[in-house]
Amino acid sequence: MTADPVAIARDLIRCRSVTPEEGGALAYLQDLLAKAGFTVHRATFAEPGTAPVENLFARIGTEQPNLVFAGHTDVVPAGAEAAWRHPPFAGEIAGDMLYGRGAVDMKGGIACFVAAALDYLAGHGGKPKKGKKGSISLLITGDEESVAVNGTVKLLRWAAERGEKFDHCILGEPSNVEVLGDTIKAGRRGSLNGTLVVTGRQGHVAYPDRADNPIRGLVMLMTALQAPLDEGSAHFAPSHLEFTSVDVGNPTVNLIPGEARARFNIRYNDRHSQTALKTLIEHRAHAAAAGRVHYSFEWQPSNADVFVTKPGPFTDLAAAAIAEVTGRKPKLSTTGGTSDARFIKDYCPVLEFGLVGQTMHQVDECTPVADLVTLTAIYRRIIERYFA
Ligand SMILES: [Zn+2]
Repeated sequence: MTADPVAIARDLIRCRSVTPEEGGALAYLQDLLAKAGFTVHRATFAEPGTAPVENLFARIGTEQPNLVFAGHTDVVPAGAEAAWRHPPFAGEIAGDMLYGRGAVDMKGGIACFVAAALDYLAGHGGKPKKGKKGSISLLITGDEESVAVNGTVKLLRWAAERGEKFDHCILGEPSNVEVLGDTIKAGRRGSLNGTLVVTGRQGHVAYPDRADNPIRGLVMLMTALQAPLDEGSAHFAPSHLEFTSVDVGNPTVNLIPGEARARFNIRYNDRHSQTALKTLIEHRAHAAAAGRVHYSFEWQPSNADVFVTKPGPFTDLAAAAIAEVTGRKPKLSTTGGTSDARFIKDYCPVLEFGLVGQTMHQVDECTPVADLVTLTAIYRRIIERYFA
């Protein structure tokens, strides 16, 4: 192999790119990719109220189809570094494991697709598709782990304005549950946050007839809202509403409060759109309130819509490459939290496949060194099959 994914992963871990810091990680990739013939762009995006964040876009080839690998070099903070058995930014190998913040989420994944791309190009005269057409692109952001406003969403728009066209994308997030090859993420549930506000009339607790306690109404509406939303769909588990906080904020023992609030999050499947879901929730509250409870909803804007990448030639290609290297038949899953795939899906079909996610965001985050080698071989087979 011409490019060593383990060495690249260690180099990346040693860059302290704690979100939203660049930490030298993008500069390192820029150098590596430019040497292999990629045209590399760095783009910094900013917005009032957020820190400016650096991003990277690299492409080799000018023709379609354009296969994109996407990822983020920013990592969550290490927390108390003394709690780590191996320092979080040292990239130490102990036994057969590589330790460090970002080892699985997702500097390890980036190292593997970079190594796979470089190795493929080295074996094919430095071109994505020898004598024919095709491009390989890399979309790397430094703003995924935090607010994700100056990252992939803007980088995609920036690339589109330059006339870049993407045909398929692999996002290297840690998708596997137990072992490498068990899971491809082919879609994600949507996420919507709201607050239910019930207003009553403040009063003395000894004279409830002169007051209207909003807590009674809140409890009643909360019960109604916790009824099942659906029974799931072909590609998704049932949607789910979970209350995350109930707030009255009343420090007084003899006072009936004037207002009570409950915050909730809904993870929803492809049976709903955001608008339809809000309507459904508001209808349920309306029916339960029966004109006796005064309530309103505050909905937070959400950029996390549900999507699914349906089984087809692209999922088949990835699954075949995974089976060829690992002997496992990956499951197409839509579980888990949101990821940047929610933005990429507006430009091309996207799959998520990376390392095993078990230690992500934990102390002593680590990956088997062997997994880095195997994942690189899988990405290499995906590229080969894609340009075959
Ligand atoms: Zn991640």
